[in-house]
Amino acid sequence: MKAATVRSVCECQAKLEADLGDDLRVLAGRARKTIRSAPETAPANLVSGGAVFQIGWFCPFCIRNTLRSFTTSALAWHEASEPMPPTEPAT
Ligand SMILES: [Zn+2]
Repeated sequence: MKAATVRSVCECQAKLEADLGDDLRVLAGRARKTIRSAPETAPANLVSGGAVFQIGWFCPFCIRNTLRSFTTSALAWHEASEPMPPTEPAT
């Protein structure tokens, strides 16, 4: 399946990531305090679709809802093996 990852930064400087399927459905959302730290689950949703779409994250570090805009033409698609990597850190 095709997937793309979008990234942004929260107001609290956490790194936000979301994996999108080719229908722009959000497959997984993550946030990291620093680039090297283990990801925490950050629930993410597609807020509005189209050529310009918005992804909303619920940041687990500052509990803000963070909305960021992206354009479909800027997405870098890659082949993802199913199932996608888990969003929860391994316990
Ligand atoms: Zn945050």
